[in-house]
Amino acid sequence: MKKDFCSFCGRPREEAPMLISGMHADICNDCVEQAHIIVTEELTYKQTGKTGFKLIKPADIKAHLDQYVIGQDTAKKVLSVAVYNHYKRLSQKVADEVEIEKSNIMLVGETGTGKTLLAKTIAKLLDVPFAIVDATVLTEAGYVGEDIESLLVRLLQAADYNVPLAEQGIVFIDEIDKIARKGDNPSITRDVSGEGVQQGLLKLLEGSVVNVPPQGGRKHPDQKMIPVDTKNILFMCGGAFEGIDKIIARRLNTQVVGFGTKERTAEINRDNFLQYVAPQDLRTYGLIPEIIGRIPVLTNLNPLDRNVLRQILTEPKNALIKQYTALFKIDGIDLVFDDETYDFIVDKAIEYKLGARGLRSICESIMVDAMFEYPSKKVKKLHITVDFARERFAHAHASVRSVS
Ligand code: ADP
Repeated sequence: MKKDFCSFCGRPREEAPMLISGMHADICNDCVEQAHIIVTEELTYKQTGKTGFKLIKPADIKAHLDQYVIGQDTAKKVLSVAVYNHYKRLSQKVADEVEIEKSNIMLVGETGTGKTLLAKTIAKLLDVPFAIVDATVLTEAGYVGEDIESLLVRLLQAADYNVPLAEQGIVFIDEIDKIARKGDNPSITRDVSGEGVQQGLLKLLEGSVVNVPPQGGRKHPDQKMIPVDTKNILFMCGGAFEGIDKIIARRLNTQVVGFGTKERTAEINRDNFLQYVAPQDLRTYGLIPEIIGRIPVLTNLNPLDRNVLRQILTEPKNALIKQYTALFKIDGIDLVFDDETYDFIVDKAIEYKLGARGLRSICESIMVDAMFEYPSKKVKKLHITVDFARERFAHAHASVRSVS
């Protein structure tokens, strides 16, 4: 005989908004939804083969990074270890083992030196959901801008709304330096974009269950929220921290005054103060101590010199030049560059202070006409000499100027 309650949760018909009857059992609407979630998760695991993270040894992570990111050895090593430890922590099963703390990471380095590239490459290797968010759009709840929870919306989207998968993902928070407290006295006015946002971020960094509006945007009272536990989400933060070199220099100079000064000042490389960055510098810069405490792994990226830029152009697995060569190959055209052409491209990137980010636009302005014309030509080879590059570059820039 059929009973008048949910056969799954035991709720009587009067208490359940809806009870669906089968041949020998009933099920309430909440249990249907619950079952749907379980089925979707199981199927996603089966279809994508994603059963969570992979545990890859630090040396192997670094070897993989080496294929895509030039230089930045210190950052690569620190990152590989931090990521390995983080996922080792997730694989801890027994509750009474020593509890390993989360190793959120802070990358300090000029813009365009590879911070995002590092984070992206690691996430791809580990095959975990990955989201990049810009800290500048975040504001405290109630102010114009995005709520802190929007960080997790992107991650959920990257995980196709598979919550358990998202809960093991990586979030890269770019431009974290822009939410530094401005000025030394935080209490003069309400600091909408600074300290309040940092306080909000704290909650996410330390690990808690956060209700995320599935479509992003502002929270809405009627909107159904998705609870996401951030305990196992790895946060990587990146920032240029413009001017922090002066803070570091000041700290180092005051430290070295006194006994043994001569030897110690001689050891300091004054061209690159960033390599000495320490947590107290971030504090002086305007990050609150609690945030700094929640991002225990701190490393720096070096500025890119001419040599590195030249390598970036040709060496990584998906180097720009390799990409152009592949594009032309599809049309059966053999693309060859002179060494001097590479030097010319690097010179322009330096001249326009564009760093690695500029290499692409410079190459584009040199190649665009050729990419337009050559697929229709019956040629098998295209040789990019420095004269060709110079002429195309000048032409592209002249037309840009005449438009503006
Ligand atoms: P950041 O996040 O530090 O501002 P990105 O990682 O976004 O910089 O780098 C911008 C672009 O410059 C990347 O897409 C990449 O093509 C290139 N790039 C920067 N640094 C490196 C590097 N060390 N090795 C290889 N490519 C790099």
